[in-house]
Amino acid sequence: MVWPIRSRIISSVLRSKAPLVASYVHGDSLVSSITRPCPKFMNWVRKDGCHASAAASLPSFKEKQPEDIGNENKGLDVGNMTEIDGYLNLFGLMKQRFLNFKNQKYMKELDHYESLAEAQYPKFMVIACADSRVCPSNILGFQPGEVFMIRNIANLVPMMKNGPSECNAALQFAVTTLQVENILVIGHSSCAGIEALMKMQEDTEPRNYIHNWVANGKVAKSKTKAATSHLCFDQQCRFCEKESINQSLLNLLSYPWIKDRVRKDLLSIHGGYYDFSKCSFEKWTLDFKECNVNEERSSYVVKEKEFWC
Ligand SMILES: [Zn+2]
Repeated sequence: MVWPIRSRIISSVLRSKAPLVASYVHGDSLVSSITRPCPKFMNWVRKDGCHASAAASLPSFKEKQPEDIGNENKGLDVGNMTEIDGYLNLFGLMKQRFLNFKNQKYMKELDHYESLAEAQYPKFMVIACADSRVCPSNILGFQPGEVFMIRNIANLVPMMKNGPSECNAALQFAVTTLQVENILVIGHSSCAGIEALMKMQEDTEPRNYIHNWVANGKVAKSKTKAATSHLCFDQQCRFCEKESINQSLLNLLSYPWIKDRVRKDLLSIHGGYYDFSKCSFEKWTLDFKECNVNEERSSYVVKEKEFWC
């Protein structure tokens, strides 16, 4: 299955008349650019030649372009470049990262990882957006064994009445089996899922899975529209990004096995908001005793608000 993909990519490159500029790792050095036609490049395609020193990050296409390419790069087929880049680097770098993890963490903390192999006792259940820019383990430093996590579009928690989903299945396992002590719903700035929610019409197509999913946030959307009619669309989206988090916190209470543990002070529910344009993080906790979880007129109160920047 690999060869046809590689053939398609290479054929695409050769058909293009644009100069090919890409970064890649070869031997001991990070080669900043190559220009068509380039036999080295073709040889390298067939090699697994990633080097540890250059494997610190998975560079994006944008990062790897020389700053002064200027007009030289006009006509470049970015889509194909990304595919080529992906074929060349991603798994080599991934392998190197895995081996770095194994050598630098796993082997150095062998007792810890051996105990994790036996059982997990995470204190947190995290529900975060699937957005590639919002990795909770990365930005909040969660370590293996600390968090039971699920990520979905727009970090939404559906109400219990909406039926089964992978989100509430994970919640049930985390709360009833793992007995986590905290649930943290993490939203973020410029969330495309929330934007889709804010833009969607009422009559969605049954097979528009994105719309059908983000419709779980329609209560938050209604509250946003009511509160922010004087604001521009982008500002409304920012508002809804936070409102939907709080609505998800309330939705968590629609599950009796969650509500019961919250009532007994065995479980706390928190919201978080990561603004990646400012690199700030807001954290707050749902004040269960002050919340109204009546389905028709739900309202929430939060406490212990913190702003990290
Ligand atoms: Zn998002």
